[in-house]
Amino acid sequence: MKAIALFSGGLDSTLAMKLMIDQGIEILAVNINTGFGSTKDRLEHMQSMCDQVGAELRIIDIQSEYLQDVLFDPKHGYGKNFNPCIDCHAKMFAVAKRIMEGEGASFLISGEVMGQRPMSQNKDALQLVLNESNCDGLLLRPMSAKMLAPTIAEINGWVDREKLEGITGRSRERQMELAKEIGLEDFESPGGGCLLTDENFAKKMFDFIKHDKFEVRDILVMKYGRHLRLTDGAKLVVGRNKEENEHLQNIENDKYSHVKTVGVPGPHALLSKNATDADKELASKIILTYCKTSPQNSYSLAYDDFEVTSSPFASREDIQAFAIL
Ligand code: SF4
Repeated sequence: MKAIALFSGGLDSTLAMKLMIDQGIEILAVNINTGFGSTKDRLEHMQSMCDQVGAELRIIDIQSEYLQDVLFDPKHGYGKNFNPCIDCHAKMFAVAKRIMEGEGASFLISGEVMGQRPMSQNKDALQLVLNESNCDGLLLRPMSAKMLAPTIAEINGWVDREKLEGITGRSRERQMELAKEIGLEDFESPGGGCLLTDENFAKKMFDFIKHDKFEVRDILVMKYGRHLRLTDGAKLVVGRNKEENEHLQNIENDKYSHVKTVGVPGPHALLSKNATDADKELASKIILTYCKTSPQNSYSLAYDDFEVTSSPFASREDIQAFAIL
């Protein structure tokens, strides 16, 4: 008997898989990449969790499908920020079901705990998700199973319901107990959660879609740097530290020119390729304002195929009006 686990890398989904594996069920852990996960690379962590409980890990990239079907016109709307949680979950279950059929697996599991998160994990929202993805009865949530109606796997006796959990709410006490029992190590997931739930990230997204069509290649640009919208509509992204500068430097997206200061240390920046001359001048002044420069002097900046000479603003306060965040 084989099941597909919707695997986030977190403790709940790891424990859910372990509860199944202990009952002799083979588990394929599927991590669905929407593109908006934490900026930290969590692959190593996910692999370690799977290895510790004995599940196979597979990363499924749905970025393009996600932008097309879910993110910009969610049937059930957004949560507090840019997070279309109900539609997003329905998509994830639909993708998992597709994999289940392809793999000849018999049911799905997830680490969801009833009542843990107000928006996405309450009972009505979950039921809606299951109906919409045609997964009703197929999805077993081992962590809260005893609080839920029996699923196909339990009814058919593939899984012993008595050995499952009945956890509800936000307390992590039972999860910690289980982790200790099985000797799970390093289970705290590194990095933040989904960027779509972040208020500042949402501001950048709302700004972006006012000016441009959002594509998969734009996701990475949204993850790093200080974002500014210039007078004629160009987008400027300026690295805030060494790590962000490195990330921005490695971005290949022909909507943007790379900009670097010449002769003075400065941040790495990206500017819309179609920026007007006025926005190029403004971008240059802004970038120089983030360097150790003086408004009395002129400095050079190298764009992809030309150079600009400019001077910084007198103060960073002059830049505030352009800041998205
Ligand atoms: S928090 Fe993010 S990944 Fe999770 S359901 Fe909501 S939108 Fe999807």
